[in-house]
Amino acid sequence: LLLFLILMRSNCLKRFNNIKWKGLYHYNNLYSIHSSNNLMTLLDRQINTSINQNEIIDSHIISKANKIKPIPVSKLTESEAINELKALNESINFNDELYYNKNSPLLPDNQYDKLIKRAENIIGRFPSLITSVSKLNAVGYSKSDSFVSLIHNYPMKSLDNGFQEQDILSFINKVINKTNDSLMKFIVEPKIDGLSLAIRYTDGQLVAAATRGNGLIGEDVLRNVFRMSTIPKRIASTYRNIEIRGEVYVNKLDFSVINSERINQSLSVYSTPRNLASGLLRSLTSDNNTQYLRFFAYTALISDNHTSNYEPISETQSESLQLLAQLGFEVSNHCDTMSSTIDVISACRAMENRRETLAFEIDGAVVKVDRFDYQLMVGESTRAPKWAIAYKFTAKESTTKLIDIIVQVGRTGVLTPVAILEPVIIGGVVIERATLHNEAEVNRLRLSKGLTVRVKRAGDVIPKIIAAESTSSQSTPYSLPSTCPSCGSDTVRYDNGTTVRCIAGLVCPAQTVESIKHFASRDAANIDGLGIAKIEELHNIGLVRNIADIYLLREKDKNPRNRLNESTSLRDRKGWGDRSVNNLLTSIDNSKNISFHRLLYGLGIRHVGLNTAKALEK
Ligand SMILES: [Zn+2]
Repeated sequence: LLLFLILMRSNCLKRFNNIKWKGLYHYNNLYSIHSSNNLMTLLDRQINTSINQNEIIDSHIISKANKIKPIPVSKLTESEAINELKALNESINFNDELYYNKNSPLLPDNQYDKLIKRAENIIGRFPSLITSVSKLNAVGYSKSDSFVSLIHNYPMKSLDNGFQEQDILSFINKVINKTNDSLMKFIVEPKIDGLSLAIRYTDGQLVAAATRGNGLIGEDVLRNVFRMSTIPKRIASTYRNIEIRGEVYVNKLDFSVINSERINQSLSVYSTPRNLASGLLRSLTSDNNTQYLRFFAYTALISDNHTSNYEPISETQSESLQLLAQLGFEVSNHCDTMSSTIDVISACRAMENRRETLAFEIDGAVVKVDRFDYQLMVGESTRAPKWAIAYKFTAKESTTKLIDIIVQVGRTGVLTPVAILEPVIIGGVVIERATLHNEAEVNRLRLSKGLTVRVKRAGDVIPKIIAAESTSSQSTPYSLPSTCPSCGSDTVRYDNGTTVRCIAGLVCPAQTVESIKHFASRDAANIDGLGIAKIEELHNIGLVRNIADIYLLREKDKNPRNRLNESTSLRDRKGWGDRSVNNLLTSIDNSKNISFHRLLYGLGIRHVGLNTAKALEK
């Protein structure tokens, strides 16, 4: 046994240090080794040269890398490059530790990917530095206690990321230059937001399953994989050994069901379906929710002898997917092959448009060279294959600073806290504020001024703060004010104290403006050109103090006595002009012909919604 271990140890370490592999498709067996033995300890030390295992969560490590002046990579001196790589390396390791071991990454994906991209660019310019910062070779870092570990002797690599269509164009050009085949086919697959998994069948029987881990050492998760219904325990395969790689994920619907059960049991919720999938797959105790784990297969490698030289099951990736489906695996039915660059780009765009309608989360599209002999020709770098690129979609989440929490007074006088944010672009839209619903929400999220918060935007939904990224030293809970911020009247608590309301009614300017806005809205009087900004202006200069004033606007505007502190008529005011005043007056005239239920609804009487108003009209 000792001799065996020494042989293995020297062999594995040599491989790890040199990262020189026999050939693209020569995969060795997964050696099963317990995490407590010497070999594992040695390998861990190699991987974790720079990480202190007992390091507490310390966000300055992350911010250190973020604050680095963005000197263009081409202008960096070698010593600057070394320093920056070290800082980037620390940040990446630290986030990996949280991501892989605690299932709760500190950085959102897009920021993490930016760090990786920057590090790659620096290494691209100073290739010699890779030996001094060897940790960058590993995909991630993974070491839960008491888990049996499996070594991937051929690493499971992650994919290079592209954020712009330009990245895909240059990828395609590079690949075509290598193969000299301008008609070669590419396959575009959805990039499932899950966890990579490798499983192995010997003589058709499921015998091993390992997470990607850090790409070199994964965790043996066979026990949990046995409980997954989408992974067959036996397959009708004529091959001696077959290794399947794919992505483990949880459907969006199952994710919300599990989270709402956890809320009922007062347990913490999972922040994303991927974190849930990771938690379930890597759970050490038997968890009934493991049945919700699903698996999309995308790679099949076969070996018919004992020397373990693995090779693809077919000639092309698209054929592999068909064979995987025949073997009983779930494969994505959103994969297409094409040869023109324009088609590849539009397939990526189509994938992004389809994103919201899919049952599972995807965070990008993967473009792969379809023919395996071409993949071999194009080759791989130490970190990622060169024959594939992941086109990442724009993030729907980002982090920003909470500048202030203001209080808004609604039409019925209800006070609502609103977050004022440092402007941040999410999905192409600038977000500056987010609703906080009520006091309880502010306290649940433990928000206070100055904290960094994670903001999410989905579809047309109002942006929402989903978590605070840092904790506040302030211990007093947030509470809505006892006087109205708009009119200064006392506020009263209703509904067991959960609703706070200004009781001044239409004396309160905020409520008046909101009630005029409600009256002018589409389902009520439908007055075009009377948006919130115009209503506030008309209210401030004293021309429209209530709903009735809307219909006196034409007359009132003619008489300067009706204007507070203002002598100019509307037509001469900045931002108005003849045309917009005429349009507004026309749509006010048109609104005199609306049906009775719309007028009734527009008055904004509590408990009289649109349907009640219709019933009353009948
Ligand atoms: Zn008020």
